[in-house]
Amino acid sequence: MATIAFIGLGNMGNPMAANLVKAGHTVHGFDLVTENLETAASNGVTIMASAGAAVKSAETVITMLPAGKHVLSVYRDIAPKAAKGTLFIDSSTIDVESAKQAHAIAAEHGLLSIDAPVSGGVGGAEGGTLTFMAGGSQKAFGKAEPILQPMAGRVVHCGNDGAGQAAKICNNMILGISMIAVGEAFVLAEKLGLSHQALFDVASTSSGQCWSLTSYCPVPGPVPASPANRDYRPGFAAGLMLKDLRLAQEAAQSAGAATPLGAEATQLYTLFNAMGHEGTDFSGIINFLRGHPDQ
Ligand code: NAD
Repeated sequence: MATIAFIGLGNMGNPMAANLVKAGHTVHGFDLVTENLETAASNGVTIMASAGAAVKSAETVITMLPAGKHVLSVYRDIAPKAAKGTLFIDSSTIDVESAKQAHAIAAEHGLLSIDAPVSGGVGGAEGGTLTFMAGGSQKAFGKAEPILQPMAGRVVHCGNDGAGQAAKICNNMILGISMIAVGEAFVLAEKLGLSHQALFDVASTSSGQCWSLTSYCPVPGPVPASPANRDYRPGFAAGLMLKDLRLAQEAAQSAGAATPLGAEATQLYTLFNAMGHEGTDFSGIINFLRGHPDQ
């Protein structure tokens, strides 16, 4: 069993760290928020006074932070304090450029590193069923895979430095676009006098089938577990969807890829968020498409 430093014990980080403790690892945790540290301590994480203190005796360091600037600032602080050969795993969702810079900082200090963002949300973090998308060398991935297992349903090695973040934003661009497509179809069906259930029954077994329809249906009824059945409480908040769509647009611009539907989805989620819906589940965009964003 390993000693693991876990930095960033928020909505995702805390349940992920708890699963590492349950698997028998020693977890040294740090966060800036006292309440999050208290939750971590109650899950069996040893609380450290700083990120630097957390990495000192760790063989592996996991970060789960809001954005690229937080990851780079923490890496600049802790990379010089870690022993050579320590494995750094960043599971935050960040831009591809910052992910590559984080790898470069790790390499400068003789560390192994992978970017390993996740899909599956807080439910997946609690259940230990996250999908990890990893980027980095085969050597770093080989060391990371057994550490990730207690938190994972699936671990996919996507390629070299930054490939995990690339996979994450491509996947979430599909998700943002497909949720709008499914929402538009239900709004049109309503205008045409077609019931939600009838459209669901047909499209879920026809060529319109997709995850946004069959697992996360944006109208109440057909999929009882979807946020539409609980007033669009997240789930996956519209603010996080917008963050990922913007990351995809930044990446598309710097790579010279044409993503017109990704751009349109970013616009629509920008408007939805600007109306005060950052904390609403992203499937609530259907109410905006209907012209009733406050429902
Ligand atoms: P969160 O805001 O709940 O947690 C982030 C934590 O990082 C906070 O507790 C914050 O105090 C801490 N932090 C910030 N700067 C720090 C520093 N310098 N040192 C130590 N701690 C610091 O966010 P979250 O929902 O846990 O998401 C974390 C990452 O995972 C994000 O990049 C997000 O996009 C991604 N993600 C979230 C979800 C989700 O459903 N919540 C799903 C997939 C991916």
